[in-house]
Amino acid sequence: MIRISVDRERCQGYGNCVLALAGAFDLDAEGLVVLTRRTVDEGDLGAVRRAAYDCPTEAIAFTTDTAPADTAPTDAAPDATGPDVPDGAPHPSGRGPAT
Ligand code: SF4
Repeated sequence: MIRISVDRERCQGYGNCVLALAGAFDLDAEGLVVLTRRTVDEGDLGAVRRAAYDCPTEAIAFTTDTAPADTAPTDAAPDATGPDVPDGAPHPSGRGPAT
């Protein structure tokens, strides 16, 4: 189980999160992020990581029930959400891990 949270005060409405996982993120009438689901299955971990990593304002956070060792990148082919972002990977802004 993955628990997602968003900080609407930070959101600037870029919509990258919706592109990454339309099943959990949407934009409201003000153009700001809303969660359509607060929890998603572990199978969506790559997409959630992509959403958080691609958010230019770092408005997205998530936690998993899985131990870090169980979510380490594997040699499996990347899914349609793009390359996997490993646990603890620094955000492009350099402000800290994506999680
Ligand atoms: S990617 Fe970030 S800034 Fe863009 S809509 Fe989603 S939460 Fe808001």
